[in-house]
Amino acid sequence: MAGSGRVRARPNILVTGTPGTGKTTTCSLLVDATQLRHINVGELVKAKNLHDGWDEEFECDIINEELVCDELEDKMEDGGYVVDYHGCDFFPEHWFDRVVVLQTDNSILHDRLTSRGYMGAKLMNNIECEIFQVLLEEARSSYAENVVVAMQSNSVEDISNNVATLAEWANNWRPDGS
Ligand code: ADP
Repeated sequence: MAGSGRVRARPNILVTGTPGTGKTTTCSLLVDATQLRHINVGELVKAKNLHDGWDEEFECDIINEELVCDELEDKMEDGGYVVDYHGCDFFPEHWFDRVVVLQTDNSILHDRLTSRGYMGAKLMNNIECEIFQVLLEEARSSYAENVVVAMQSNSVEDISNNVATLAEWANNWRPDGS
């Protein structure tokens, strides 16, 4: 917890991965199984206007990372949150006790994204992001090795297993690491 200046009573978990890998679904089930609360960063950005406009090519908000971090800071210092976002390199490293990278096979992800209406550059960009394991690399270069875990998210069974594993970890977490 280097750099935080204080000890959290409960852990923070970051759930990241390419859009469509199941972050929001996983986080919703995880908060039902723990005392943690869910923060969906994409929704927060929209609700509080924490962006610098709209990216026409990729059809998404251009988020203002500094405003997002300012908004989350007090909550992260308190602890007890599951944060859900398709990026992870701009959060302070000391915020998270576990960083989960969800991964999905390309053909499955392709179907999920097309049924969400993604096409063109947005679809291709996200499929390439998954093929090249961009989020896993980003997590590994931003957080300590023992904090980052990759989890498969191809099926409903995967989600149940992932939620059970993470809930057990969170419910047994102790501030002093004992
Ligand atoms: P993300 O938050 O990563 O963009 P979502 O949780 O919104 O992903 O999931 C996108 C869609 O894919 C939803 O319809 C969800 O039900 C489905 N989905 C996500 N993960 C899985 C999975 N492991 N198995 C089956 N369906 C999934």
